[in-house]
Amino acid sequence: MSLLPRRATRRVMVGHVPVGGDVPVVVQSMTNTDTADAAGTAQQVFELWQAGSEVVRITVNSPEAAAQVGEIRRRLDDMGCNVPLVGDFHFNGHKLLAQYPDCARALAKYRINPGNVGKGSKRDEQFGAMIEAAIEYGKPVRIGVNWGSLDQAKMARMMDENAKLAQPLSADALMREALIQSALESAAQAEALGLPADRIIISCKVSAVQDLIKVYRDLGARCDYPLHLGLTEAGMGSKGIVASTAALSVLLQEGIGDTIRVSLTPEPGESRTKEVVVAQEILQTMGIRSFTPLVTACPGCGRTTSTFFQELAQNIQRYLREQMPVWRAEFPGVETLNVAVMGCVVNGPGESKLANIGISLPGTGEVPVAPVFVDGVKTVTLKGDGIAEAFQAIVDGYVREHYAEGGKLRRSQATAAAPKIIPVKVL
Ligand code: SF4
Repeated sequence: MSLLPRRATRRVMVGHVPVGGDVPVVVQSMTNTDTADAAGTAQQVFELWQAGSEVVRITVNSPEAAAQVGEIRRRLDDMGCNVPLVGDFHFNGHKLLAQYPDCARALAKYRINPGNVGKGSKRDEQFGAMIEAAIEYGKPVRIGVNWGSLDQAKMARMMDENAKLAQPLSADALMREALIQSALESAAQAEALGLPADRIIISCKVSAVQDLIKVYRDLGARCDYPLHLGLTEAGMGSKGIVASTAALSVLLQEGIGDTIRVSLTPEPGESRTKEVVVAQEILQTMGIRSFTPLVTACPGCGRTTSTFFQELAQNIQRYLREQMPVWRAEFPGVETLNVAVMGCVVNGPGESKLANIGISLPGTGEVPVAPVFVDGVKTVTLKGDGIAEAFQAIVDGYVREHYAEGGKLRRSQATAAAPKIIPVKVL
């Protein structure tokens, strides 16, 4: 789908999922369950995978968590979920990987934060132990540097050296340079220890949009490792979504970023899967990659006197997303479907004609009828109480007719199997 140029990188296999090279940008996510709770973690990983996450990271922060990673993998396999699991290690990863070989084997990638592997003389030894585990078990690693846990000894050294320069870098520029150097030096160290370059992915996360853009532009120009892209601590609600979208869009537009994660803080009670939906929608609305049929809806205005069209747009979008775990396999290509739900005659028919399926609902003072357009042609006009059900049935029928595997041979069967339109007054 994407016509945007991509930065040339190596390709790294994370389990069965390729990252980098010329493959599409991969969406990943992270659980917020206690990994020691194998049932709860497996369930959340499953939900993230069903929402479309292609790689899922879990924290591995304690012996209790490490002891359950193999069990989590087995539970997922039993549920038919083959999503690769990434272990997020800090402080004690060298010990956990050595003491829990079942965990080391079950994970598809190890995330190593060079700022959190140990201090002083222990740092190289403990970093080396994690790289040796990756070599022994044939796993890739992500060297994941984060501004909040940047190696302070390195930062102090760089500040001293910077102060002696005739034209020292600003504090911000020095911070960005320290992040990049930390990542690249750690990657070089991993390669020197024997880890092949095509088993290394890099990230340098910060929480400010402009800093992230500068860091990744620079990082992208200085290496050919695939880059994991994400704004760390993006925040809650619309702020988190907007900040992540602003940062990621600029970089993706420049071909930078091979796998993305949107780090949202869920509202209390909110599903963790929202970060997957937002990541997919960033890629899809930019025309980079399609995941789920999207609904085009007008914002509504004084011409709409009820919330009916808002509810219809919301319900159809939810319905389309809920069908995707099944439709993805049964109806290849359905993710490119475009549906329009419009509030009145001003832009309704025009926008509806541009979609695969569109409905133009009546605005204030208009005749209470809703023409439906399929591939630009008006096919039916709905009226009465069952408009929402009838429209959903039309969408269902269209999907079965146009995306059933096997193409035209199964087209008539698919049409026959389509749900009947619930009776409404059709003019
Ligand atoms: S299509 Fe009609 S209801 Fe929707 S925003 Fe435009 S004028 Fe308002």
